[in-house]
Amino acid sequence: MAILLPIILIAIYVTMYLMRSDKTAACKWRQVAREGDERTWRCPVCGGEEVTTDGAEPRFCGAGKSKS
Ligand SMILES: [Zn+2]
Repeated sequence: MAILLPIILIAIYVTMYLMRSDKTAACKWRQVAREGDERTWRCPVCGGEEVTTDGAEPRFCGAGKSKS
C-alpha cells in the first residue's frame, strides 16, 4: 500500500500541470499596442503574445499555444 502514495501524488501533480496549461485563469493579458481594430496583448505570466481583432483579450494562454 505504501507504494501507491507516491504514484497518486505524481498523478495529481501531472494532472494539475496539464490543467494549468489549458486554463487562462493565471493569465494577465495587457494591451501593449493598438492599430485600428487589431490589438496586441502580452501576458507576463506565460510570456505569450496574441493579436485580437474583436477588442477582447485573448482566451488562450501563450504557454498552451506553444505546445499545440
Ligand atoms: Zn498567459
